[in-house]
Amino acid sequence: MAKDIITHRDALRHTAGRCVVSVGLTILLTLSFCLLQFGADPDGAVSAGFVTKSSILISVTISGLLTGALSYRSALMMRELALTRAELRRISGTDQLTGLLNRRGFDEAAESALTAARDAKLPTTVLMCDIDRFKAINDQFGHEFGDKVLIAIAEVLRSFAERRGMLVARHGGEEFAILMSGVSKERAAQYAEDLRQSCAAQSVAAGEVSANVTISIGLAECRGDTDLAKVMRLADQALYAAKHRGRNRVVRADADSIAA
Ligand code: GH3
Ligand code: MG
Ligand code: MG
Repeated sequence: MAKDIITHRDALRHTAGRCVVSVGLTILLTLSFCLLQFGADPDGAVSAGFVTKSSILISVTISGLLTGALSYRSALMMRELALTRAELRRISGTDQLTGLLNRRGFDEAAESALTAARDAKLPTTVLMCDIDRFKAINDQFGHEFGDKVLIAIAEVLRSFAERRGMLVARHGGEEFAILMSGVSKERAAQYAEDLRQSCAAQSVAAGEVSANVTISIGLAECRGDTDLAKVMRLADQALYAAKHRGRNRVVRADADSIAA
């Protein structure tokens, strides 16, 4: 199997094996062909023209078969390689705990979404969402419970964002990012507020333990040719302001708090 070929020695051994098979096949087919055509009598008369035509036919058939088999095999290997690459790419852009995009996956997808929105002259808004006092949740209920909280909040964000065709990612430890295109300022603010309320209404339970969790959201809009890094920075600053003002709220980068 191709996947067993790891070292140079394996490749040489594999090639030598294939050569032996092809030479053996050629001898076998040629002998069988001669036997069928000329019979077993070694003294039987054979015309020179017939021998030439037969040998050409045998060579063409064998090289055609071998070329076809080798091409098919290399096409299969290329396909396997392409699938493996795509899978590796998917894994490297996915957060293992929540199944959302990770920061790397988000940045890649967000760059394309931003460019597409800019070309179509559509506004783009970024929400940076951060779980409030998450360290205290970990400290009080344990890291495993903290992981459950991350999964529960990720699920709320995922169902919210995917229904509306938005990008959503776990951007860091307990920080999530959402990117939406073609949504007006007012509607984006309303979405952020809805999201905050949905998370606050969520109660995470495991065994006897249950906790209510809130998130703070920083919202920033792309204007003109604002790049992704800048809009993320603005959303981060707004998030910082939301924390500063008491948490469990939405703050817009260029305006005052839009929801309590
Ligand atoms: P704030 O309201 O200001 O955001 O406070 P906070 O406690 O949420 O923020 P802080 O940055 O002080 O703590 C974040 C904590 O998130 C610390 C870290 O141990 C925890 N954390 C990061 N990644 C994971 C994870 O994958 N699982 C768990 N259980 N905890 C995590
Ligand atoms: Mg936090
Ligand atoms: Mg944080």
